[in-house]
Amino acid sequence: MASVEEIRFPLATCAIVSVCCVALFAVCCDFAASTNPWAESNSRAVAITVDDLPGAVPGTGRAAGNLKDLKRINRLIPRILNAHRAPAIGFVNEWKLQVPGERDTRVALLQSWLDAGLTLGNHTYSHISFQTTPLAQYEDDFIRGEVVTQALMKTAGQEEKYFRHPYLATGPTPETKAAFDIFLKDRGYRVAPVTVDNDDWQFNDVLGAALEKKDKQLANRTKQVYLAYMSTVFDYYESVSRSLFHRDIPQVLLIHDSGLTAECLDQLLTNLERRGYRFITLDDALADPAYATPDLFIGPEGFSWLLRWKLAFGQQADWQKEPDPPAWVMNMSNDIRCAKQKH
Ligand SMILES: [Zn+2]
Repeated sequence: MASVEEIRFPLATCAIVSVCCVALFAVCCDFAASTNPWAESNSRAVAITVDDLPGAVPGTGRAAGNLKDLKRINRLIPRILNAHRAPAIGFVNEWKLQVPGERDTRVALLQSWLDAGLTLGNHTYSHISFQTTPLAQYEDDFIRGEVVTQALMKTAGQEEKYFRHPYLATGPTPETKAAFDIFLKDRGYRVAPVTVDNDDWQFNDVLGAALEKKDKQLANRTKQVYLAYMSTVFDYYESVSRSLFHRDIPQVLLIHDSGLTAECLDQLLTNLERRGYRFITLDDALADPAYATPDLFIGPEGFSWLLRWKLAFGQQADWQKEPDPPAWVMNMSNDIRCAKQKH
């Protein structure tokens, strides 16, 4: 289950017994490489989408992050994307700009994405869940979340036109979902779906903790296991694509504006290139007819549109089958989030 971040970590889950030490020994079992061969085809395409600008903080969604770290992350990620000629869109939570004394510098981080030829989108102001927020409040938060980004984009000759739901929570009822879709359309926005959903944020939690403890071995292991996990994730969504559409549709990858991404993006994109992928814009991905398939899912879970589309094919949206990170990563991430909630 992916992209639900800390909202799915109520304190009750803290009862899960910490198995960090045992888990560290178990990690060697998780290097099982993808069984699918690389690069059977050169027709694969993927759009890169990066959530939680100007920075996803390890262990919590409630921190605005350390400016020095954010500067590093937002310098490296656009640079790596450019080196791979990968267009990308960054989805912004503007509340993270509102740190006294740092506002201009934080806005400049967004500007650096535009200067790199990338684009930006709206991810709500405060990263709230549609599942637990009344429609009017959700719409207000959306409007509050476009103020700075839209102005920057206008100056850069761009138009903000994509919205990404936090936690991929697309609405608690058919009525609120439909009403918000109309609201978006009226304001000139389109939902940015995700097909390659994953739990990169859990790896970011573990990497953040490893770096804080100066545990280089754990940091390296986390990065390696993340990259192997992403191969499994791509195996899975490629198979769903072939089963539904009898071809590799252009995929939309969700990653976060994080330290993990800054550390691993170069290798991740290299792995995707070896797998036969070229990098395309979100506009180009969504021009594929597959994206005209309606998303009929209503519910609290956030997961891939490929699985949502199964409903339109008369199948079950079996989100439980999304690949999970290794248990030791999930356990460590859970423990880290529980500890931060207590403080
Ligand atoms: Zn997010």
